[in-house]
Amino acid sequence: MKEIYEQLGISEEVYNFGAQVETSLKKRFEEFDRKAEYNQMKVLLAMQKNKVSSECFNGSSGYGYDDFGRDTLEKVYADTFHTEACLVRPQIACGTHALAIALFGNLRPGDELLAPAGKPYDTLEEVIGIRPAKGSLAEYGVTYRQVDLKEDGTFDYDRIREAINEKTKLVEIQRSKGYQTRASFSVKEIGELIAFVKSIKPDVICMVDNCYGEFVDTVEPSDVGADMIVGSLIKNPGGGLAPIGGYIAGTKECVENSASRMTCPGLGMEVGASLGVNRSFYQGFFLAPMVTKGALKGAVFAANIYEKLGFPVIPDGQEPRQDIIQAVTLGEPERVVAFCKGIQAAAPVDSYVDPEPWDMPGYDSQVIMAAGAFVQGSSIELSADGPMKPPYAVYFQGGLTWEHAKLGILMSVQKLLDKHLITLP
Ligand SMILES: *Cc1c(COP(=O)(O)O)cnc(C)c1O
Repeated sequence: MKEIYEQLGISEEVYNFGAQVETSLKKRFEEFDRKAEYNQMKVLLAMQKNKVSSECFNGSSGYGYDDFGRDTLEKVYADTFHTEACLVRPQIACGTHALAIALFGNLRPGDELLAPAGKPYDTLEEVIGIRPAKGSLAEYGVTYRQVDLKEDGTFDYDRIREAINEKTKLVEIQRSKGYQTRASFSVKEIGELIAFVKSIKPDVICMVDNCYGEFVDTVEPSDVGADMIVGSLIKNPGGGLAPIGGYIAGTKECVENSASRMTCPGLGMEVGASLGVNRSFYQGFFLAPMVTKGALKGAVFAANIYEKLGFPVIPDGQEPRQDIIQAVTLGEPERVVAFCKGIQAAAPVDSYVDPEPWDMPGYDSQVIMAAGAFVQGSSIELSADGPMKPPYAVYFQGGLTWEHAKLGILMSVQKLLDKHLITLP
């Protein structure tokens, strides 16, 4: 084993350090195995119940009327997430697009959108109009209100109660922390928040940005009262095989409203050819619990490795997981670069490429990104990125297999060690 790792560029001391940390995580890994087993059964049950057949893998073209595979897949998603309906489409370009469709489809001029648990994901700022943008909800007369978390990271129930008014139509809660420093919310916490909101105004639509959260737990926000959950297929539920796409699962009314926005009023869910993606959507969803498990093991391994090396990590090595993202605060720009070079060097695709920080649109500092993915930009595949500004943190996620995630993390340690930016404990 050491020999093959050595051929990949991992020294014996780094290998031994990794092996020692891995041994200490046996119990943790068993817990991930059990959750994944449950979720695998959940997906299988939905596939069997809906009689998935090889006919489902045939695509449609043009309008896509009566696309049997597409319609059956949407039932499989709905049954897995225990919702009345679901939209799962390659026409949904990414997670932000799915979230935007859900918001625009369910909000009308004069309505108010409330974020009761702090700022939504960065890319939604322009969708909502927090940052002015052409075509934002604000331009259509939808107002926005936000209640930040309390200093201790908990929901500010008093201020949420004050914020809910006669205009409040939809509440948006983001499960994963994204690029914020708060903790990600558990499904249970989200359920408590939804129950509170509904106790004040029962007809408010509660929507959860579920990106990076699918299959991390055995329940989803839709099991605890969310009217809509939304996510990207190039993250967890695509299982690494979906080449594009997003989903919106929820009540029939919310999903149909979303469909009227995704296509147009009158056409709704009826049109939208699946082209050739059906098989990869099905197979990816089937694999998704296992792929998510691998990513979770990678995240916990990284947390423990970097904790032992003396760096602050969020979540820490022992905390329960609510998503697949791991943040490591490296404190110095050179370390961020070396970390990302390591992740890149471990990739199955573009491993020979050397990532450099660059000025990315939408960011206020240079950013370095590492990704050697089969699907461009896919972050269920092993990837890392770091904004080149204090506190010089990297965000790390994914790995289609635990073994690959492990190599990526060991390689990042190796690169840091080679540049004398760390010392092994
Ligand atoms: C990734 C992500 C999004 C946006 O998805 P894109 O596919 O990048 O548009 C939204 N919310 C959260 C929490 C995410 O992690």
